[in-house]
Amino acid sequence: MAVQWLLVCHGLVTLLVLISFLCGQWPIFQGTPIQRIHYFITYGAYDYFLRFIGFVFGTKGTNAILSIEQFCCDRPNPILQVIYLAILWGTYYFIIKSSFSYIPGYYLGAVHRYTSLLAVGVGVLLFLLTSFSDPGTVTAENVSQYLSAYPYDNIIYSEKECSTCKIPKPARSKHCSICNRCVARFDHHCGWMNNCIGERNTRHFMAFLLWHFLICIYGSVALGFILAGQVKELKVVHILTVYYGIERNFRSLAPHVVQWLLGAYNTQILLMVFLAIVSLLLAGFFGYHANLCLTNTTTNETFKWQEYLSWQKKLNEAKASTEALKASISEMGSETKPAESKWKLLCRRSPLEDVEVVVKNNMYDRGFFHNLCEIIFPLSTRSSFVSQTKLKNS
Ligand SMILES: [Zn+2]
Ligand SMILES: [Zn+2]
Repeated sequence: MAVQWLLVCHGLVTLLVLISFLCGQWPIFQGTPIQRIHYFITYGAYDYFLRFIGFVFGTKGTNAILSIEQFCCDRPNPILQVIYLAILWGTYYFIIKSSFSYIPGYYLGAVHRYTSLLAVGVGVLLFLLTSFSDPGTVTAENVSQYLSAYPYDNIIYSEKECSTCKIPKPARSKHCSICNRCVARFDHHCGWMNNCIGERNTRHFMAFLLWHFLICIYGSVALGFILAGQVKELKVVHILTVYYGIERNFRSLAPHVVQWLLGAYNTQILLMVFLAIVSLLLAGFFGYHANLCLTNTTTNETFKWQEYLSWQKKLNEAKASTEALKASISEMGSETKPAESKWKLLCRRSPLEDVEVVVKNNMYDRGFFHNLCEIIFPLSTRSSFVSQTKLKNS
């Protein structure tokens, strides 16, 4: 019984930490313990740690930690790539050690020993493809092609030059300070890939996310079938009903079967829960990026649009307030009008209600099919783009 409660507590704590880490900044969690846990995980713990190092080792210790932080976060490095590979192969290793002896089983054929390896292998290939492919580096040779492929919208992008690369900055591009290069249709710098996600490799990144989501579902379901097979092969239901006198219906049997599984197969259950949680996270992440791809927006642009829309809203509100103030001053000047009743004043619309609504006018969004094609066949891989670049170089 103690093992069960330990597993339940472990699951709840993992879920709380994951939700706090990923969603702690959402407005609905403002002022809740989830927001405080988020602050502690993302900033507070590190801040306390730095203070502790400063207290014990002085300024030298703090500077050493800060230089490690700079190496890890501000410079290209393979730390997260190694962690990803360790998690992937570690999980697969635990599955082999704990569960391959049950394959072939009642519900799973021997083929799953090989298909699982193939699935993990394809996952690693997609990881390597995303990590080591060119995200669409803008150079002096191809900048004119990028400039004509991505025109300025004069809303969130206007004509500019990159102060580091000293070349014009095409619309939708960004200078990545970690990789020290300008990247076309820049989405974000991915630490896990140690690479930027941009115009040329968003397709590999999306395939990576989708494939890893499917692997996790596959692993979780396969482990479920192994456990179901064990229940069947060991005639657990028969033993419970005949020898222990438990009623033969789902409600009575389920708690006993679960208790038996938790005791005898806790490694498989832990792996199943872990894979299910990771698959949910990957589904959310894939869904978010798929929505961005289908509306032809990048992660970088969502921040730009947020900034632009909130700035425009404030500007319109300020205009409406000024107009309302002007109107009330002129009303006060003209004494001829009879005074409005209190009820009328109460029901009168606030000038802020008439503020013009600012809408996102994304000129790069040219419909579902076109946006999808742009991800699968990036503009710079198309023959017209390549031939123009060659012509310019010759
Ligand atoms: Zn640059
Ligand atoms: Zn980068």
